[in-house]
Amino acid sequence: MPATPLIGPIEGTAVRLSVAEPGRLVIDARAPSSNGPPTWSTGVGWVEPAALAGSTAFARVSTAGIGPPAAVEELLTSMVAQVAAAGATRLVLDTDDPARSGVTGVEVAPPMRVTNSLGRRIERLVTRVPGQVGLYSCGPTVYSYQHIGNLRTYVFADTLKRALRWRGLDVHHVINITDVGHLLADADQGEDKVEEAARKEGRPVDEITGHYTSVFWDDLRAINVISPDEWPHASAYVPQMINFAKVLEEHGYAYALPQGLYFDTAKQADYGELAGIDLSAQLETGRVEEVEGKRSLADFALWRTFVDDRERLMHWDSPWGTGAPGWHLECSVMSMSLLGDHFDIHTGGVDHRELHHVNEIAQSEGYLDDGTRWVRYWMHGEFLNLKGAKMAKSAGGILRLADLVELGVHPLAYRYLLLGSHYASQLDFSEKLTASAHVALKRLAARVSALVGSGSGSGLGLGSGFGTDDPITLVEALDAASSAGSATLRSRLLEIDAAVAEDLMMPTVIALISVWSKDPSALPPAEWEILLRAVNSLTGLSLGVLGVADFAPPLPPDVDVAWVEDRLAQREEARAAKDWSRADEMRDALAAVGVRIEDTPEGSHWSYAGPAS
Ligand SMILES: [Zn+2]
Repeated sequence: MPATPLIGPIEGTAVRLSVAEPGRLVIDARAPSSNGPPTWSTGVGWVEPAALAGSTAFARVSTAGIGPPAAVEELLTSMVAQVAAAGATRLVLDTDDPARSGVTGVEVAPPMRVTNSLGRRIERLVTRVPGQVGLYSCGPTVYSYQHIGNLRTYVFADTLKRALRWRGLDVHHVINITDVGHLLADADQGEDKVEEAARKEGRPVDEITGHYTSVFWDDLRAINVISPDEWPHASAYVPQMINFAKVLEEHGYAYALPQGLYFDTAKQADYGELAGIDLSAQLETGRVEEVEGKRSLADFALWRTFVDDRERLMHWDSPWGTGAPGWHLECSVMSMSLLGDHFDIHTGGVDHRELHHVNEIAQSEGYLDDGTRWVRYWMHGEFLNLKGAKMAKSAGGILRLADLVELGVHPLAYRYLLLGSHYASQLDFSEKLTASAHVALKRLAARVSALVGSGSGSGLGLGSGFGTDDPITLVEALDAASSAGSATLRSRLLEIDAAVAEDLMMPTVIALISVWSKDPSALPPAEWEILLRAVNSLTGLSLGVLGVADFAPPLPPDVDVAWVEDRLAQREEARAAKDWSRADEMRDALAAVGVRIEDTPEGSHWSYAGPAS
């Protein structure tokens, strides 16, 4: 939705606004004085123009720093008058000062806040350019399959993007594909992960990266992760990486060794700030490999010059000899190429917080050398634990989305499981928990389908972009509630909005829709549709599109889903009546055709385990 420049410069008695930068106005407030000429406190707050949907306007303001209450009141009264002139009857404010927003026609939505790893605190999100967000997410190294723990990181970034869009922000999202430069064990020397895979599998490099990239994309589609605007491949940016490294060398942040060009971390006083630990502690982790001539253990390769005579599949000429770029370099180069020198949010898995992102910041701020922060907000998604341990590919035994599907779990049930925990909390994975999420989502989808009168199974694929999957923003949804004159819809929309605004509290959104769906009469179908569009916009769960039939695991042609469901229902009835022999009879009947049952707290989950022996 394009922003309407409704908040023009104001020259009032207690407040004045002037344009500070395109789309953002700075507030000066008049200091109370009994005599003498007026004095102005300048730059005490700011206003971003209002976006308008029908009779509802939405704007972001910061007024907490304004002293005189009269100045706040004059500002808000003026804003209400301006949006009224444009046809709006209510103004919803994203404000840091809710206590002083008591002007007729003004309603308050909580400010959007996120956990910033830089400083480890929850902060209000204020974008560089009003109404726009530049978002970069570190992507996969495509030398093997992504496991379900990796996918959690992209669901987190996707959830963030959905929340920003919901708040009317225009998000430009970039996820990179690392197809060169990522060495085994994050070391400075050694073999490239992609190259090693090509050698092991006996296939060309581009075949390896192409295969694992396309499987990764299929997985993301299956869990409704919205495709980013750009998917840059590192191998296409090597000339830019060389230029970037040259600039660092010119700025005095790098030194050359026979093994390559190294970043001199001692040149930056705040090196390692993001990691939140002191540098010596980081060095003791032993993740940084020693290279002869390095000035500090923390210094890292910008360019790796090949000094042995091993034959390489990927190599480029550079001022520092034939070699390949250092791994950290690509993210700085690709993000700046596509989002500009500075952008708003950088995300990644929490395993990048202590080293990869620390080094991205160091080299980017050295490159820009403009005395300002490169990126203001750093957000990290926590691990998925399998039996309490981080799921690492190097540990072997990885679990893929395809493995869950084989267990009869719908891909979106995995997304549902992830959204049940906050992104910054570790989540313990178990098969039972996943089966339980499948049953819970199936039941929710069934209840919800009845509310909007559809859902016998979409058969249309997911994220189809129509009906309840049609995205909607907060201001559009509130406007629809106003048009319908529905206080219930309005308060529910504000309830999920408040959960999302406070650091993406998706578990609350899931809990709310689960409870609400149990009372169909609370809203008429048309209003349910608005509410579901809002929930789907935020969660990506395709509620109202998914039908019960979508949750049936694949079966051989001679076994009927309805027959299976019927036996399952009879078994549950028998169990409820403590008729154990009848329950066993049903279980045996299902086992005879190869259907396996798992009982979870949400109910029984079944899957087809293959032909019965
Ligand atoms: Zn990265």
